[in-house]
Amino acid sequence: MKNYDVIVIGSGCGSIIADEAVAHGFKTALVDRGPLGGTCLNVGCIPSKMLIYPADRIVEIEEAEKLGIGAEISNIDFKSIMARMRKSIRENQSHIREGIKQAKKLAFYEGEGHFTGDYTIEVNGEEIKGDKIFIASGARPFVPPIKGLDGVGYLTNETALQLKARPDSLIIIGGGYIAVEYGHFFAAMGTKVTILEMADRLVLPEEPEISELLRKALSRRMAIHTGAQASEVKKKGNGVAVLVKDKKTGKEKRFSGQSVLMAVGRRSNADILKVENTGVEMDERGFIKVNQYLETSQKNIFAVGDANGQQMFTHVANREAVIAANNAFHDARIAIDYSAAPHAIYSHPQIASVGLTEENARKDHEILVGRAKYSDVAKGEAMVETEGLAKAVVEKETEKILGFHIVGPYAPVLIQEVVNAMTTGGHSGEIDQSLHIHPALTELIPTVLNNLEEP
Ligand SMILES: Cc1cc2nc3c(=O)[nH]c(=O)nc-3n(C[C@H](O)[C@H](O)[C@H](O)COP(=O)(O)OP(=O)(O)OC[C@H]3O[C@@H](n4cnc5c(N)ncnc54)[C@H](O)[C@@H]3O)c2cc1C
Repeated sequence: MKNYDVIVIGSGCGSIIADEAVAHGFKTALVDRGPLGGTCLNVGCIPSKMLIYPADRIVEIEEAEKLGIGAEISNIDFKSIMARMRKSIRENQSHIREGIKQAKKLAFYEGEGHFTGDYTIEVNGEEIKGDKIFIASGARPFVPPIKGLDGVGYLTNETALQLKARPDSLIIIGGGYIAVEYGHFFAAMGTKVTILEMADRLVLPEEPEISELLRKALSRRMAIHTGAQASEVKKKGNGVAVLVKDKKTGKEKRFSGQSVLMAVGRRSNADILKVENTGVEMDERGFIKVNQYLETSQKNIFAVGDANGQQMFTHVANREAVIAANNAFHDARIAIDYSAAPHAIYSHPQIASVGLTEENARKDHEILVGRAKYSDVAKGEAMVETEGLAKAVVEKETEKILGFHIVGPYAPVLIQEVVNAMTTGGHSGEIDQSLHIHPALTELIPTVLNNLEEP
């Protein structure tokens, strides 16, 4: 059996750890069943945002009338938009493969691995042993057992990327960030989109007023049904019919479309890895339990990224990889801190959020809440941005920023100032001390913080 100082399972954020291990001179093995580079590169952030960029431009043109511009789109080349995205992914994959080939001290096992014991992994019929093991095995689409679904066939965020022709109509089951991002894209392409969400609102972890604003905006371009639980999927002609139970009335409704896309959440890959063959514990959802140092319940086995199910975003996964590598290779005790971990949703309108929502903050803090609309600042008014808004949640006594939430243009860019402030323990007054360019959308941030009041 080959012995390694370090084994890394997963080439998403796991590549960061493998690189670090090689740089430290450790005998290192990287195991990945492919596609190389993990979810973000192949079926997550990168392809979805490559598709959403042209979708954003389309909606801007469609909405240009509010600025006094009459414009018509003469052609949307779905095939080439998809082909550009796939080409870019192929190129990135081959850069990663090249990098792996050149890393002479890295043994790459291209295959599906599983634990056979605490520190042993079988891959491609060979057993390997590692002194330190990093589980960075990610997650995959969760598909609930809906009657008839398997027989009919369905798309996921992964298979939708292989489409060559635009579906005329699409039913999306789920209303989280993947559902609304794909919904935005396909609707912009001209597909008739229907979103069916079981919960009472879209993007459940967000502030309710942001969910509501998103629903209102998206409803202009697609059909949105919340409180709608899909109970059965059937073939209907060349397409599908989805039977839905209305949660409030209990009545059944039927929706028809050319295809159905499942976007109800993500499930852990720990089952494939047979983590049960080790002392590594999982939580009730199947994600790997870790402490603040990203250690699992088994000494010298770490779990990072989506594998631990904490905050399933690439920037968080990458940060966890850096921390876990430091803790493992330098005997450090660096704790991960999610309190200023932001995320974005690239729907139209865009959403960005960091820290606690008002509801969560109230559980442990006395708070003040501030709100402002984009149209409250000069640039927002110039853009005729009448809907977008931002909301701050601040600790009453200290005015420490606990959370910040934005819906509207450039939200993911605007929030960074707040993230930076929160990372250094920022208070609302500190943001106001910095000069903000006038007129710029960044004026929204101090404006919100100047509007703090008892909720
Ligand atoms: C549609 C979509 C859009 C997203 N958009 C964003 C976004 O805009 N911004 C953002 O921050 N995040 C986004 N995410 C989330 C982001 O993609 C993930 O949080 C991130 O990729 C997780 O990285 P990871 O390294 O933990 O896991 P992954 O990147 O999933 O890597 C896991 C790797 O492990 C391999 N593997 C798993 N099991 C085994 C096994 N048994 N043997 C061998 N190899 C195995 C897999 O093949 C994979 O390569 C998106 C996700 C989706 C699905």
